[in-house]
Amino acid sequence: MSVLTAPIDVEKIRAQFPVLHQLVNGKPLVYFDNAATNQKPQRVIDALTHYYQHDNANIHRGIHTLAERATKAYEATRLSMQNFIHARHSEEIIFTRGVTESINLVAASYGRTFLHAGDEVIISGLEHHSNIVPWQLICEERKARIKVIPVTESGELDLDAYRKLLTGKPKVVAVNHASNSLGTINPVKEIIKLAHEAGAVVLIDGAQASAHLPIDVQELDCDFYCISSHKMFGPTGTGILYGKRELLEKMPPYMGGGEMIKEVTFTKTTYNDLPYKFEAGTPNIGDVVALNEAVNFINELGKDNIVAYEHELLVYAVEKLSAIKGVKLIGTAKKKVSVQSFAIEGIHHFDIGQMLDTRGIAVRTGHHCTQPLMDRLGIEGTVRASFSVYNTKAEIDQLAEGVERIIKFLK
Ligand code: PMP
Repeated sequence: MSVLTAPIDVEKIRAQFPVLHQLVNGKPLVYFDNAATNQKPQRVIDALTHYYQHDNANIHRGIHTLAERATKAYEATRLSMQNFIHARHSEEIIFTRGVTESINLVAASYGRTFLHAGDEVIISGLEHHSNIVPWQLICEERKARIKVIPVTESGELDLDAYRKLLTGKPKVVAVNHASNSLGTINPVKEIIKLAHEAGAVVLIDGAQASAHLPIDVQELDCDFYCISSHKMFGPTGTGILYGKRELLEKMPPYMGGGEMIKEVTFTKTTYNDLPYKFEAGTPNIGDVVALNEAVNFINELGKDNIVAYEHELLVYAVEKLSAIKGVKLIGTAKKKVSVQSFAIEGIHHFDIGQMLDTRGIAVRTGHHCTQPLMDRLGIEGTVRASFSVYNTKAEIDQLAEGVERIIKFLK
């Protein structure tokens, strides 16, 4: 696959995102809620429309032309995602509704088979609720225990504490590649290596990495990797679970229904081969097809270019926000994706978010589905600005100016 690596031309990129060109509350939209979901380029929207206008049919079982076209387009995305994360085999790519479903699939299927009473599952204090609750559910059922890697004040994982936890010989380690609340990039390669030495399998929640960091599952040697399409310029409602083939083969189906079977009788059912064993029912075909264009969009920009440009945005935002008296930055890890949380002493984060919205600036406020992390930091929530490759330094200036005005107005 040829990947263009042209430097970032932000105006050219912005021109591809129709949603960015609008007024919100009378002001040009500044979209800084990219960690929640990022915007979609026209080519992704066109791919979705094209699919429904020309190719819509149910996949795999049909022999008519439309069914063949839809199947081909759906399977083409599987190959793109395989390349995108450098998986060894295409059948290691399973389409799901996104990261939440991918983690639930592993927790339910792997967990129900391989977790036993007294076993341990290690997660981290930086996790999204999606990488906490599925493990709690299965651990409760299997009478297994959850252990948590502690988080330092700057928002990094305490690796010494992790090493100690590994002496308990956990069965599973599940951590994110990057934190949605603080932006911390976790040393996943090291985490995986140490976990394997202790005999555990490792799941990486890649929700905040797919649009921002290079991903090579073979190099990482992770056992499972989870991605949501909507956080990488693709449609909502789809994503993938990557799993090593030898593990997926040992795992029972997560859901039963059409497509995941070979033969059904009332007494016994045999299951389909990978990846279809885990894709019961009619999948989200249109959105999977459109996801392919999102992958093309990222590949054409080049991950290294994206990383460099977004890092520049982050450094600029840190410089601007930290210069404002009364602003406290939350999450100051050495390695971060382009996410900056902050607080203003004496002003509730919801009020800040609302007031920024009146200036057309979209940020996220609250606990960001990481309540245990907020508890650890002794706060209720933050204001979070998260940047994408279509954002500009001028927009960060607008954020900083907005924050300064709020402080002046409310204090
Ligand atoms: N993990 C992380 C780190 C996330 O940021 C998110 C989304 N905010 C999720 C998991 C859940 O992803 P989804 O809602 O797309 O399933």
